[in-house]
Order: sequence, then C-alpha cells, then structure tokens
Amino acid sequence: MTEIPQQFASDNYAGICPEAFAAMVRANTGHAPAYGADSWTQAAADGFRRLFETDCEVFFVFNGTAANALALAALCQSYHSVICAESAHVETDECGAPEFFSNGSKLLVVPSADGKLTPEAVRAMAQKRTDIHFPRPRAVTLTQATETGRVYSLAELAALSAVCRDKGLRLHMDGARFANACASLDATPAELTWKAGIDVLCFGGTKNGMAIGEAVIFFDRRMAEDFDYRCKQAGQLASKMRYLSAPWVGMLEDGAWLRHARHANACAQRLATAVADVAGVTLAAPVEANGVFLILSEPVLAALRARGWHFYTFIGGAARFMFAWDADLERVDALARDIRACVADLA
Ligand SMILES: *Cc1c(COP(=O)(O)O)cnc(C)c1O
Repeated sequence: MTEIPQQFASDNYAGICPEAFAAMVRANTGHAPAYGADSWTQAAADGFRRLFETDCEVFFVFNGTAANALALAALCQSYHSVICAESAHVETDECGAPEFFSNGSKLLVVPSADGKLTPEAVRAMAQKRTDIHFPRPRAVTLTQATETGRVYSLAELAALSAVCRDKGLRLHMDGARFANACASLDATPAELTWKAGIDVLCFGGTKNGMAIGEAVIFFDRRMAEDFDYRCKQAGQLASKMRYLSAPWVGMLEDGAWLRHARHANACAQRLATAVADVAGVTLAAPVEANGVFLILSEPVLAALRARGWHFYTFIGGAARFMFAWDADLERVDALARDIRACVADLA
C-alpha cells in the first residue's frame, strides 16, 4: 500500500478521526440488533436531538449524494422542481441522483457568482413560470458552507427562508460542510437550521472526519413520513447500522465535530494569510470555511503540480485547497512556501 504525503486536494483525502474510530471500536463488541434497532443508532439520533435542541427525525445514510437526493425526493412529487445554485453539488456532482430518486423533479439552476443563492434570484425563479406546462417549484436547496468556500450568514438564511415561506417552497440544506459553517459563524446548529427556517438538513460526517456516513435530519417530522422506506428502496439502509451511527456518537459526545471543523477552518485562514502578500496570487473568494481558492497562472499551477501538490481547478479555474480535521500545520506552511517559490521562480 502506498501512502501519499498529506494533500489538500479534497477534505476527503483525510482518514478517520480518532473519536469516530474509537466509537466504531467500542461498537464492535458482541451482537446488536440489525437495521438500526440497536442502542448506538438510538444514541446517535438522541445526540442530534440534543445538539439541535429539538425533537427532529434522524436517518443515517452512506453518502452525501444519497442524503441530498433522498431528502429532496421526500420534499417533492415528480412534477415539482427544486431551485439551486449552478455550482450546487446536487447539480454538478451527483450524476442526476436528485432527479432520479424523485422520479424526475427538475433542478432549476440559478446563476450565481459566489455560489450562493439570493432571495431575489429564488423569488424570480419561483415566479418565472406558473403555468401547467412547467414543473412547479416546490423546494430550494442551498449548500452551507458552499462549494465555493462561502458561508451564508444568519441574516442571509432568514431572508431566503422568508421567500420560501412566501412562495410555499420547502428549504433543504446540503450540509456536507455544515460543521465548518457552524465553526465559521460561531452559531449553534439550531440557529443555522430550524430557527432559520430550514426544513431538512443533510449533515456531512465524511468530510468532518468519519469513514462514511451522513445524517438526514428532518425538523418538520411530517416531511419524514416513509423516509425509512425511501432509504431502504435506494439501498441506503445499512444492515449493520451501528457502524454508521456509532461514529456519530463519538463525534457528538465531546464536540469533536466542531473542534475538527474549527481546526480545518483555521488551516484555511493560515494558508490564505501566508500567501496574502505574494504578488500574482489572488483569492478567488473570501476564506470563510475550510477551503482556499487561489487564482494562479497556468505556469504556477504546473510548477506546483511538479512539486507534488494535488489540487483541483474545477470550480471557476481557481486552485482549490481543502483542509480536514487532520491538516498538519507544517504541510500547510510547506504549501504556502511552495506557492511563494513557484511564483518567484517564474517571475
Ligand atoms: C462532498 C459533498 C457532498 C457529498 O458527496 P458524496 O461523494 O456523495 O458523499 C455533498 N455536497 C457537497 C457540497 C459536497 O462537497
């Protein structure tokens, strides 16, 4: 097996954090009832109810694509549509899963310079067509933190949810990096979700430090009706559920989820600060969560790759660096030094 030096191409390059791993080991003793009837799954769901300070319905699925697609399918009929930003993961990276699992609910894509939806754009899209020939807008999905490394403020969320209420739209949050948003805003999970009008949250465990697993959290329990059947039909009901749920117990019980997100966010700030004075290096977006997007020339991108760094440029051409729970400060600093050196070499 070959291990590569730590990279910041994706927060998914990281391994499993100690808290999640220890909880899996603890869950791995003796027998337990299957399909979620075990005490770990109960404890994880109760942990979320405590964390969110409300009696929410909680489901555990394998990945974010399934979480988003099934949650949106629960909000819509096949003749409905879902408003999202053009850079939304549901649109760009889920291979049509939201449309597939909803039996055809159309995604209505809103252009967005910074990856965020605005109340005006949502209202305009919701009003654009109201005739019988066009799928009826029924839901809005926003990503918190966004694919572009931005975070919606509480005021922005409130404004979006006001439009949704006004237009009869349900509000879904893709929270693959929800923990990073909580850390960034220093707001409680409740404030960022149901108190701001979010109906359903997909809370990402994988990018937060788990091996696998996302939690689908319904704040309006009525929308969760038959969701267990939906998960099962989609191949998302784990028979040995305790291994999907126990890591959440480990993440939630001592606040590891937030500690790891704070660390990842701090590493993003550290990189951004370290290259701030390098001429020819520009931030494509303000650093608000655990990602840094740098506009670099093609030769600099090539030189960085030649020095062994992995990164993607699929979002608007900027080099994306994502930090996870295990980001090593020395590697962050080494990346900053290499960026500086590559720019200097080519000057
Ligand atoms: C990573 C990610 C997901 C989940 O993707 P999977 O690969 O299906 O687990 C969902 N939304 C966003 C914004 C992501 O970055």
